[in-house]
Amino acid sequence: MRATVMYSAGDVRIEDVPDPSIVDPTDAILRVTRACICGSDLWPYASMEPSETGQSMGHEAIGVVEETGADVRTVKRGDVAVMPFAISDGTCEFCREGLQTACVHVGFFGNNGMNGAQAEALRIPYADGTLYPLPVGEDDALMPSLLTLSDVMGTGHHAAAVAKVGPGKSVAVVGDGAVGLCAVIASKRLGAEQIIIMGRHDDRITLAREFGATDVVSERGDEAVEHVRELTGGFDVHAVLECVGLEQSTLTAISIARPGGAVGRVGVPQDETMPASQLAFYNNVTVGGGPAPVRAYIEELLPDVLEGRIEPGKVFDSVVGLDGVPDGYRAMADRESIKVMVRP
Ligand SMILES: [Zn+2]
Repeated sequence: MRATVMYSAGDVRIEDVPDPSIVDPTDAILRVTRACICGSDLWPYASMEPSETGQSMGHEAIGVVEETGADVRTVKRGDVAVMPFAISDGTCEFCREGLQTACVHVGFFGNNGMNGAQAEALRIPYADGTLYPLPVGEDDALMPSLLTLSDVMGTGHHAAAVAKVGPGKSVAVVGDGAVGLCAVIASKRLGAEQIIIMGRHDDRITLAREFGATDVVSERGDEAVEHVRELTGGFDVHAVLECVGLEQSTLTAISIARPGGAVGRVGVPQDETMPASQLAFYNNVTVGGGPAPVRAYIEELLPDVLEGRIEPGKVFDSVVGLDGVPDGYRAMADRESIKVMVRP
């Protein structure tokens, strides 16, 4: 079969690789019908050290279950299912608490040697806990929005949940990538009154407004902080959703949280240390977040997608076949595209 392999920064290839097969009795094989390129794939695309073997890429997919191991119970051959980016057994203490990204058997697709989803098929460990069967056909019109439940919509929702977004709250979303845009949807969905999108790309800002953003801050650094303060009557926002992961964006996020407010971090941090520790302390700002347990959120978000109340699939502005994946990485890195969907 064909799959996407990254060998070093900027070097993404489509290659023939061995077909996946059942290794453990809890595995399933998923034939990928939709996958996508993630903003977090752009980190290795910018900085990966050369590797002889390469890394199979992709951690967001919907597909059809082709085969199941002897111990798989809740998914079966022919099921259309969404694959969250993390492997989870569904039964351990953390899974039962709804934090599947801390599962004792956790693994992340397309990372650290795990097989990736920008491929014709892949092996799904702990299929019962990992996959979420969908009540639709494989070419349902809602596929783009359903696909976002594998990562970006659940991740945006996680930022909002951690930052305690709720009715009447003021929110700032740092970052206008697909996760930031989904964080706007999540904030609106949870009843936020003011939603400030912080970004500077016209196409993304337009979509953010469509999703419910009420204000736009396009400055950076101190000017951005000042602008948010103006927009909030000098008080700053209750909830900040950090969807970038850089030192500057994190500093901005903590700087615009009002005293007693909260920052939900879902941008993968690119630094070991976190800035603005003293500011967060003196303002009693809660800083939380991490890899979103998107598997847990599917149950809550799926009805809104199926009934058309939210349309996160609008973040996809490009669709490619596997051959178009290397150029899709380039287009996202160059900010020509918000998010690329892959139809293997
Ligand atoms: Zn678990």
